[in-house]
Amino acid sequence: MDIRIERVSPDKAKPKPEGALGFGKKFTDHMLLMDYTRGIGWHDARIVPYGSISLDPSAMVFHYGQEVFEGLKAYHTEDGRTLLFRPADNARRMNDSCRRLCMPEIDVDDWVELVRAAVRADQDWIPTAPGTSLYIRPFMIATDPFLGVRASDHYYFIIILSPSGSYYAAGLNPVRIYIETEYVRAVRGGTGFAKCGGNYAASILSQSNAHESGYEQVLWLDGVHREFIEEVGAMNIFFKIGGEVVTPALEGSVLPGITRRSVIELLRDRGVPVSERRISYKELEKAADDGTLEEIFGTGTAAVISPVGELRIGDRRITVNEGRIGEISSWLYDTLTGIQWGRLPDEHGWTVSL
Ligand SMILES: *Cc1c(COP(=O)(O)O)cnc(C)c1O
Repeated sequence: MDIRIERVSPDKAKPKPEGALGFGKKFTDHMLLMDYTRGIGWHDARIVPYGSISLDPSAMVFHYGQEVFEGLKAYHTEDGRTLLFRPADNARRMNDSCRRLCMPEIDVDDWVELVRAAVRADQDWIPTAPGTSLYIRPFMIATDPFLGVRASDHYYFIIILSPSGSYYAAGLNPVRIYIETEYVRAVRGGTGFAKCGGNYAASILSQSNAHESGYEQVLWLDGVHREFIEEVGAMNIFFKIGGEVVTPALEGSVLPGITRRSVIELLRDRGVPVSERRISYKELEKAADDGTLEEIFGTGTAAVISPVGELRIGDRRITVNEGRIGEISSWLYDTLTGIQWGRLPDEHGWTVSL
């Protein structure tokens, strides 16, 4: 891959952030851009100083939402290495999203190389405090200046980087989640499995209603029966019921999380029974009633493992594991973060050095 690099001039380099980083607020000195032209393919990969991009107001992404994105992190290890976690899985998933939105795919090896090049250009921006990381946001947008509805002939692929604080600055705290019964996120045949902005646009109303009621996240039900659990905001969801770990099967409406996949593999290695199947909210209520609902946790790149302390279904509040973190949740958190930050051996070959 030929990647042109135009470095920021020293007088324009931004000061590195100090103190709490938060999430998604600070950006590094550079960004990566690449153009797609139908008939030519992807071309002109370049790393340039971070800044605004200029688009025609009629650019198709603004009107019909042809956009997909990914999210992964670069981790600084104690012995000074930089690790990426399963980046080729992000590349493949982005291509799955692209196919659904009629957007051009990028060769998986090229995609990973572009991510590495972008991170290398801003390597001194990778935060080193415990739990911090460099969040990597690759995304693709349709740029044809045209108001008709069809696939665009031109696209941008862009990578921006954001130094991020520890998700659990105040410790691994259980969250409270609200089962949404009025709106749905996705249906089979729709775009639920694709990581596209449109899915999020349609979720914000529910998220904001849940916040108003004092809940951190929304738990979505399937769009047909309004009965089976799908996933949480930006996380997949797991339940430990009577010794077995259960997570909704991937049937087209749930985002296939890389953390989800990793958790399933880690649990199976440990000999914990895991099943991917349909699970109804009624089954959860029943398990809560008979005392077999042992743990609930969400999985995603940002939080890794997010224990759930309370579930709200209609007027009913279900407290999980007395609102404390479960044994499986904390083991998974320690194991996955141990691999990601290079503290534990990576037996699966999931991490990639920069
Ligand atoms: C990104 C995302 C996830 C989590 O996926 P990871 O690969 O584990 O980060 C789950 N649900 C939705 C809707 C997402 O966008």
